[in-house]
Amino acid sequence: LAEKLQNTLGKLKGKGKLTEKDVKEAMREVKLALLEADVNFRVVKNFVNKVKERSIGHEVMESLTPGQQVVKIVNEELTSLMGKEESKINFADNPPTVIMLCGLQGAGKTTLSGKLGNLLKKKGKKPLLVACDIYRPAAIKQLQVVGGQVDIPVFSMGDKQNPVNIAKAALEHGKKNGNDVIIVDTAGRLHIDEGLMDELGNIKNEINPNEILLVVDAMTGQDAVSVAESFNEKLDIDGVVLTKLDGDARGGAALSIRAVTGKPLKFVGMGEKLEDLEPFHPDRMASRILGMGDVLSLIEKAQANIDQKKAMELQNKLRNQDFTFDDFLDQLEQMKNMGPLSQILEMVPGMNSKQLKNLNVDDKELVKIEAIIKSMTKNERNDPSIIDGSRRKRIAKGSGTNIQSVNRLLKQFKETRKMMKQFSGMEKAMKKRGRMN
Ligand code: GDP
Ligand code: MG
Repeated sequence: LAEKLQNTLGKLKGKGKLTEKDVKEAMREVKLALLEADVNFRVVKNFVNKVKERSIGHEVMESLTPGQQVVKIVNEELTSLMGKEESKINFADNPPTVIMLCGLQGAGKTTLSGKLGNLLKKKGKKPLLVACDIYRPAAIKQLQVVGGQVDIPVFSMGDKQNPVNIAKAALEHGKKNGNDVIIVDTAGRLHIDEGLMDELGNIKNEINPNEILLVVDAMTGQDAVSVAESFNEKLDIDGVVLTKLDGDARGGAALSIRAVTGKPLKFVGMGEKLEDLEPFHPDRMASRILGMGDVLSLIEKAQANIDQKKAMELQNKLRNQDFTFDDFLDQLEQMKNMGPLSQILEMVPGMNSKQLKNLNVDDKELVKIEAIIKSMTKNERNDPSIIDGSRRKRIAKGSGTNIQSVNRLLKQFKETRKMMKQFSGMEKAMKKRGRMN
């Protein structure tokens, strides 16, 4: 989706003057791209009409950079489609806060129990996980394993008890043990059925959760949206967690769910590991879809894993585009703690999946890059433009690589800088807009 939209909007951006026809044509392509990404058709129709209406307006057509104005409008409307700002969990005034997870089988509820528990534990809470899936073989064991991985206790009563009773007993247990967050993992089915809905309704009535989170699999696209609609009708959910976003290149579900159910997306699952959970930020998701990259998420991720001071420095350097090969080297060191490189690079502005494939970064490549940078002199690291032919030869020799590798790295570095520059300009424009609103 990102690539398609970028192409379409890229065409507009370059234009000095826009006609109504330009906008209409672009919107036709935007519409197709969204439909292809499996965004709900009602949502697409509304979206395109809104953007068209705003774009053909007087201010845009008369402005100096109409193309960029349209891109801005698309970004704004994408953001508001997904909710204006980050939605948080409703914590109870009197703990424990009870969070009930529900969703179809395989959506990622049990995994989310661990992820959410882990996240809240890091924030100083004392969570308890509750095993209410008594149907799926080994479901209880699975939750116990997940709990064990993040060192969070799991309450279970085997599979002979009724889930309503288990939930009730878990609440008592949690209160007694000083657990301030109780996360209830429920059973799913392959499809929505009355039996499941009744059971979930009964659990809800018994424990009166502060937060009912529906877990849906992003890779199921439109199905995720209709599942969300059904669950919301029956249970009046408080929010949605979109899992497996790491495997969903299209992003259609993220765009439709809020508009169709009226309920906010609260978290996104970005992988199978228990650290792979992120708060959902509509504005960042919109930028990501538009291909501007997700610098803020990147920085947040960095802050979680890198020491704070260094992260601040990085942030400023990225903004001012004066980062050098030394910073780059520093980054490489720190990145090793941040998880798979491809996931990190996806968040860098301007990177799309095609570019990523071209970059082809694997860990072996990293070792090479490190060696090359280490073979540069201080001056060369600060100002790569002085690295001429003979210096390249020396660096290649010193690092045990070859001229091609050195050239490639220099080129990548230059391009990264250029991208940062582009982003920085965009960011300024966005800040300005923020002030005008
Ligand atoms: P449940 O049936 O709803 O409890 O689903 P599970 O928690 O058992 O998850 C089903 C499968 O999805 C497991 O293999 C998980 O590892 C996987 N999974 C869950 N969340 C994510 C995610 O965010 N990304 C990816 N790639 N896999 C996930
Ligand atoms: Mg489960």
